[in-house]
Amino acid sequence: MRITAITTTPVEIRYRPEYEADKRFYPKPPAQTNVIVEIHTDEGIVGIGEAAHAPGIYGENAGGTIAAIDYISPALIGLDPLGITAANMAIDRLSPVGNIAAKAGLDIALHDLAGKIMGVPVYQLLGGRVHDGVKSHITPATYEGTLTDLESLIGQGYRAFKQKMSGDLDYDVPLIEGLLDAVPEDVVLSLDVNQGWSVNETMKVISVLERRPRFPSNVILEQPIDGADIAGAARIRNATRVPLMLDDGIRTVADLGRILAAQAADIVSLKISRVGGIQRCLQMIKMAEAANVDYIVDEINEMRVANTAVAHLALASRRPLYTGVACHLLLVSDISTGGGVRIVNGEAVVDDAPGLGIEGLDLSGLIPEVVHA
Ligand SMILES: [Mg+2]
Repeated sequence: MRITAITTTPVEIRYRPEYEADKRFYPKPPAQTNVIVEIHTDEGIVGIGEAAHAPGIYGENAGGTIAAIDYISPALIGLDPLGITAANMAIDRLSPVGNIAAKAGLDIALHDLAGKIMGVPVYQLLGGRVHDGVKSHITPATYEGTLTDLESLIGQGYRAFKQKMSGDLDYDVPLIEGLLDAVPEDVVLSLDVNQGWSVNETMKVISVLERRPRFPSNVILEQPIDGADIAGAARIRNATRVPLMLDDGIRTVADLGRILAAQAADIVSLKISRVGGIQRCLQMIKMAEAANVDYIVDEINEMRVANTAVAHLALASRRPLYTGVACHLLLVSDISTGGGVRIVNGEAVVDDAPGLGIEGLDLSGLIPEVVHA
């Protein structure tokens, strides 16, 4: 069997209205634009992937992803679709740096394709399922109704939350105090600053946390400062018992290596869509495990296809603290017609259908696909 063509289709879906008043630090557009990647074969089997974007943090966008796949595709046409590593090597040779979303979309599609050809779910390609379900976090809307939203999500079984911060302490500190009063101790609360504070501002928030009548042992401080400032992260980590999670600065194996070597994180957030695919993310999971650093298997503004890939990887990982596969639920609609990841009592689960298990896609009414051959 051979790869014969690769198609890309940009998909734009609006966020639910309660996210429009979102005050998160980085600029988030009212709609999410990702790219569906389909890898075709001479036997008619098609692998589906998704390239997800966060232009306000990483700079990449759908137009750039489609251009990158147009450039990379000739290196993949004619390859054996079961050769996932060889295909990734061909991608890396043509595009050694950057184009991370494009690489992730292609690698997810390669895994879906290989799973379909072999008749096994993607998690089997990753060493097999370790967990029946892994706790998923979800982001409540950052607006006046945050606490109501949170209460309803806890009622649905969620036990982990990522709360976006605004970068303005006058807004963030009262929000944090309100959240700590509302969230039970067995519910994980990550305060995700997306690099919005300085080291000194972070120290101020830490003293607010540490002065609470009871130490908030369920709170995680996520990427408070510039992702490139590893020395600053190490200073913060050494100053408090509040666990520090690093996220936005981890794009390459070298980035993660520097953080681990500097002992700058208690937890690292590892994302298929931010490191260039399932295979690269699995490599980073192994690095974190080898360094005895906790990790989460996380998402970036993904729709159901990429969220499903994250779920397969989380279920096949030894000891993820939790995962993130719920951001597709923040959008008003979905392009998949069935199958893929489900969240049951706050846990990510997948069934044993071949590949990702996405039953079909409804791409009608969208911008026409682009064929790269
Ligand atoms: Mg984050």
